[in-house]
Amino acid sequence: RPVIARNGGPVPVRVAVRLRPFLDKDQQEKGSTVRGLGEKALEICNWRNEQESLKYEFDAFYDEDTNQDKVFKSSVQNLLEHTLHGQNASVFAYGPTGAGKTHTMVGTSEDPGVIPRSVHGVLNAVAKERGAGDGEWTYTIGISYLEIYQEKVYGLLETKNHDLQIREDRERNIFIPGLSEKTITDFQQFEKHFVPASQNRTTASTKLNSRSSRSHSILLLKVVKTQQVQPYRQLTGKLYLIDLAGSEDNRKTGNQGIRLKESGAINTSLFVLGQVVDALNSGQARIPYRDSKLTRLLQDSVGGTSHACMIVNLAPEESFYTDTYTTLNFAAKSK
Ligand code: ADP
Ligand code: MG
Repeated sequence: RPVIARNGGPVPVRVAVRLRPFLDKDQQEKGSTVRGLGEKALEICNWRNEQESLKYEFDAFYDEDTNQDKVFKSSVQNLLEHTLHGQNASVFAYGPTGAGKTHTMVGTSEDPGVIPRSVHGVLNAVAKERGAGDGEWTYTIGISYLEIYQEKVYGLLETKNHDLQIREDRERNIFIPGLSEKTITDFQQFEKHFVPASQNRTTASTKLNSRSSRSHSILLLKVVKTQQVQPYRQLTGKLYLIDLAGSEDNRKTGNQGIRLKESGAINTSLFVLGQVVDALNSGQARIPYRDSKLTRLLQDSVGGTSHACMIVNLAPEESFYTDTYTTLNFAAKSK
């Protein structure tokens, strides 16, 4: 029975685990399969054998009472700073469908998640810099919104939807030619672009195995800082906010034909992401960024001088036991 402990020190990708509350009271009476053990550790209990539990330790554990504000402040807020100064950062929500990834990233208007809080944070930080500065630098904030589905990239703010290519420039910055980017100067402008695109994506079908549960949706917040005097430097900081495909094994849900191909592709992207994070956090020399579209896109924003956080979402219900177990093993290997 492994007790997996952190070896201490900062890592390229922090891993935090968030447990959502029960969604109905009947289930709650049976008890949670996940139990917190302080601020960083947790155990999962095998309902077939009460004596058997597995313990894990991560950079943070957020129990079912942890609100959106706490998750944002302790895992995301510090990354915004880097984006403002020409560095890149990424936040991932990982976990099985129904465990709370979209709640964590998007949330609701009453209870906003990481994405709207980050937009507010970046807008406020830029306003503050403008107010405090002497006009030496100007700032522009741009958003792009895209989806990776079956190893193809699609823009979500575009009118025409065809697959896009990922390229690298001479300075090794990754970019997507033709991807739509909207400049925003206030939160209303952000909402005007993001809300319809994100609703489109999630209301198409909220069922398990819907496209939205099998694709990675990626919001890119880009801050470009331009010097108005010599030497007219320009710094670009990117913040990727990613609602990953469900971590459940789609092959087990009886998918056939094309569906099976899709689940293979999803597993490839999530699998490679796990390998990349594992390679970075264990200090390996070769990082397999090029092995999937997702990691290729993130090549300049995960590892190196970039900062990243993976929020692993878990559900407390017994019906999630297998997904919880495989998700935690993925996360334990990644940390
Ligand atoms: P996923 O995106 O991983 O499939 P969702 O974010 O859609 O999961 O969450 C599944 C359900 O659980 C939704 O009804 C959501 O509102 C609810 N939920 C998830 N996390 C929380 C939370 N921390 N507090 C309250 N409700 C939550
Ligand atoms: Mg979702």
